[in-house]
Amino acid sequence: MGTLNQLVFIALTLLGPFGTLGHGPWTGHKVIRLTPHNVPDVKLLQTFLSEQRFDVWRAPSGVNRSVDIQLSSFDFDDVTNYLREKGLHATVMIEDVQQIIDEQRAYRNVKGPKANEFDYTKYHQLDDIYDWMQNITNVYKDRATLFNITKSYEGREMVGIKISTQPQNIKRPAFWIEGGIHAREWISPATVVFMAGQMLDLYKLDMDLTEMVDSFDWYILPVTNPDGYVYTFTDDRTRMWRKTRSKHGFCYGVDPNRNWDLEWCKEGASKDPCSDTYCGPSAFSEVEVKGVADFLSKIENLKGFIDFHSYSQLWMSPWGYTTKLPEDFEAQDEGSATAVKALEEVYGTKYKHGSIANIIYVASGSSADWTYGKLDVKYSYGVELRDTGKYGFLLPDDQIIPSGKETLQALIALAKYVRDN
Ligand SMILES: [Zn+2]
Repeated sequence: MGTLNQLVFIALTLLGPFGTLGHGPWTGHKVIRLTPHNVPDVKLLQTFLSEQRFDVWRAPSGVNRSVDIQLSSFDFDDVTNYLREKGLHATVMIEDVQQIIDEQRAYRNVKGPKANEFDYTKYHQLDDIYDWMQNITNVYKDRATLFNITKSYEGREMVGIKISTQPQNIKRPAFWIEGGIHAREWISPATVVFMAGQMLDLYKLDMDLTEMVDSFDWYILPVTNPDGYVYTFTDDRTRMWRKTRSKHGFCYGVDPNRNWDLEWCKEGASKDPCSDTYCGPSAFSEVEVKGVADFLSKIENLKGFIDFHSYSQLWMSPWGYTTKLPEDFEAQDEGSATAVKALEEVYGTKYKHGSIANIIYVASGSSADWTYGKLDVKYSYGVELRDTGKYGFLLPDDQIIPSGKETLQALIALAKYVRDN
């Protein structure tokens, strides 16, 4: 890279807090993919990306694991040329981010359907999801209730559904599933909503599902980061937002999956408030994260925990903060293997499984590490849903039902495994 270009880079980096990360328009923005084939190349990419403020869709995670980066047309030639000089050849995964957002604009304009006609094939705004939750817990009063966590930074309610088919006086273990901790990963809330709907609609109709529902008290939180989620619906420019919306100097938001109080803000988290992986001013600084953690702490006999993300198709267990494996890894990973096998049987979708740090990247202060490390929830997982990068965060809505159906089979298989182990 020439000196002039380098200066432009530095200038852009300095402008970053006001500039590009998380804010469109994305006209001409491409998502490129690079696959480092040796450790020095992985390190080179890590260093390069930590010095620049690009929107990293998939961070470097090891040899032969692909890295996806969103680049403006302005940066494209400089970056790809620079990396090519270093022996790293980029392929273009997405030609024009804005074009896909344009094609999907209808998602955001879906006017809230009446809750009793909720359309599971679409992405929905927060209010519509809350209407649906209200409605479905009314329809299935005998086994579903709403629960409140706390209010978000911007004052929104954080609401979940509890499904319990057992009389109150009989104690059963509990299972927690949550979606939408990262705002732009829309397939996550959509999949969680679909599964919760099926757990109520198909109860007593589908025997495997009924057995699953009966085995636990289910706590289901579809949108763990409501402020961020709402923000991604504001307009095209905010579609790629990931974090919460709390304010820190010139920048907004903390990565709510780097804010948990276990090995907080060590490797794989940033102290820069403008970074997409900002760990926050302190552990549990985010009311949403603290709220969920407090709620989880009070659940008796919590046996299972899953935090749904996208994308990459991975079923992951602790640890995230270190590549060292916990003593329960074998049992945890067998749970993952059971889940992904059942998932693949539905449509042939292939998931990988392993520990977070080994299969994706080292990330400290994440939810599953905390539930396992602090609450002793042995079967704690982080799951990256569809796809593997063709659309990434912009997964078309015709994949919601397939994602929901296959993930539900994974959940059924995992719940059975957890119950019996
Ligand atoms: Zn995520």
